[in-house]
Amino acid sequence: MWILNPLWKFLKAVRKKSYVEMILCIFLLVLIPTYYCIDVFHILPYMYQLPSVWYLMHVLLLTFMVFNILTNFIAVIYADSSIVGRLLILSEHASTDNNIMYCNICQCAMPLRCWHCDVCDICILTRDHHCTFSTTCVGHYNRRYFLWFLLYFSTASFYEIILIGYYIYCEVTIQFSDLMVLIPIQSIITGFHLTIGQIFVVLLALNLVAISMSTLLLIYHLDKVCKGQVCHEKQDDQYNFGLTHNLENVFGEKWYITWISPFIKSKLPCNGIDWQKHINQYKRD
Ligand SMILES: [Zn+2]
Ligand SMILES: [Zn+2]
Repeated sequence: MWILNPLWKFLKAVRKKSYVEMILCIFLLVLIPTYYCIDVFHILPYMYQLPSVWYLMHVLLLTFMVFNILTNFIAVIYADSSIVGRLLILSEHASTDNNIMYCNICQCAMPLRCWHCDVCDICILTRDHHCTFSTTCVGHYNRRYFLWFLLYFSTASFYEIILIGYYIYCEVTIQFSDLMVLIPIQSIITGFHLTIGQIFVVLLALNLVAISMSTLLLIYHLDKVCKGQVCHEKQDDQYNFGLTHNLENVFGEKWYITWISPFIKSKLPCNGIDWQKHINQYKRD
């Protein structure tokens, strides 16, 4: 038994600091600038005779989108929604409530909408879900960044497929054998002798995966935001304060300009700890 205990602890630690998550995170951070460089230095100069106003407009638009994708993504990781370093003070009404939950792992009373994340191993305020790509939990303080990341990512993916699709149509001949590059085992056996056709097959395939995943996730999460819910809450209606208030609760008081950049400060009306006080205030208004 003496060997099983440390082994179990080790396996749990490995699971919690998942290498798969780290690899996915790095993969995404490398892939986005790669696509950007291919567009700016290869596809767009092919499409427009330089110097060109159209080229400049495309570059500006792409730069704005990539800037927002990367900065919002980093902000998701950076903005901490956990209970660490926060005073969990609840209003009188909430603290006398008998239904208050207790987290045995963090050894604290859990505020409303707070859940313990098994991967992060900490309680997260207004926990939405654990994001595999950013290796962190999306909750009260970083949900805004996650949603803008998702929106810009899916928009850029659609933009990208048009550019790549156009370039392939005009310039690249894809043979049936080029599709074999999508089967990794086959590539390992035959060796990596990438042709232009194979490179664009990979770029197109990754782009299609990005479009389908990000669009589905975006639709799902926007629906949740509009209904004033987080992922765990299925039929819950008590946090639905109407569309404008629901947007404020996620994007902050200046929700209408947060699309410009994650650097725009937008104060959240609720502190994520005392949702009961927020409900009472809303009812009074
Ligand atoms: Zn906990
Ligand atoms: Zn988590």
